[in-house]
Amino acid sequence: MGVRGELREGKRVSENNVRKLIIIGGGPAGYTAALYSARANLEPLVIEGFAWGGQLMITSDVENYPGYPEGVMGPQMMQDFRRQAGRFGAEFLTDDVTRVDFSEEPLRVWVGEDEHRAEAVIVATGATARKLDLPSELRLQGRGVTYCAVCDAAFYREKQVVVVGGGDSAMEEALFLTKFASKVTVVHRRDAFRASPIMVDRARGNEKIEFVLDSAVDEVLGEEKVEAVRLRNVKSGETTEVPADGLFVAIGHDPATSLFSGQLDSDDAGYLLTEGKSTVTNVPGVFASGDVVDHVYRQAITAAGMGCQAALDAERYLSALEGPAEDPLVDDAALATPQNW
Ligand code: NAP
Repeated sequence: MGVRGELREGKRVSENNVRKLIIIGGGPAGYTAALYSARANLEPLVIEGFAWGGQLMITSDVENYPGYPEGVMGPQMMQDFRRQAGRFGAEFLTDDVTRVDFSEEPLRVWVGEDEHRAEAVIVATGATARKLDLPSELRLQGRGVTYCAVCDAAFYREKQVVVVGGGDSAMEEALFLTKFASKVTVVHRRDAFRASPIMVDRARGNEKIEFVLDSAVDEVLGEEKVEAVRLRNVKSGETTEVPADGLFVAIGHDPATSLFSGQLDSDDAGYLLTEGKSTVTNVPGVFASGDVVDHVYRQAITAAGMGCQAALDAERYLSALEGPAEDPLVDDAALATPQNW
């Protein structure tokens, strides 16, 4: 993690300068877009977020990313992505975008008081962890309530923890936690899992993991820190208390799109809409890629693939703005051409 506002490589851009490309987001999509666009001489500025790296920063072993036959830790992989983009001249601003204005050209992006302008923007802001939205959960956040097993599991050596959720994240977090905790209770609101069978089988096969199904978290108990979790069986209404030092909430994610509300079209769940198979949004010059768009596949490899697509789409858009010069990256005939180019 860097220092907030630090422009790690390259120079800070003056207010009146208009860049060719700004990339918002520092996950697999953003860094892949940076790699491709840097190699296409678009000199991208990546406003990567203060907590750059995205969801892979809270993922342990990644075993399914091609090119890493022995597997890799998520944070290491993100550092590799970032370094590879930096090698070709991508600049990184380690801070959060606070506002955008896509209503006219040039497109404008603010980080606090600093305004950045560009002819094209790639949005790759990803998605963030969902909360249970219990007052007791929010009160004890950081004091036993957490959304990141990889970040916090080591604090629970020989302790008891509860994991909420029935998806792959919950199974993965529960399994990871068994490396530290003495007991892991997985609480899921149904008796069927959204997680893949192989992950459920692995969790079921781990003697440290116990399942409590058809149950919801009613309240997180404890004054200064988590001491127990009160569960309610959703069928019988019966409540039980499970002693716990930590509550790991692993119930999915929401797209990080509030910045773009009213400017970029999104679906009912807030995911950004793109045109056909392209990364083109409803605003000319603005492209979207990765988990901020994709709620189906949501993998590092698919996000990276979309980041590549966004860079190619942006490069093509910028080339069209400049005139009919040859596009070195893209076979024109192979890409659908959105009407507004
Ligand atoms: P997910 O698949 O959307 O699962 C979320 C789980 O949380 C569901 O079981 C859901 O219950 C439960 N849930 C949601 N809101 C809740 C609430 N308010 N209270 C209690 N429970 C709630 O999310 P995910 O597990 O984060 O996975 C997201 C995607 O990433 C998936 O495609 C997954 O396959 C992938 N992934 C893969 C791996 C891997 O392969 N290693 C690891 C992590 C994630 P319901 O089932 O009742 O809706």
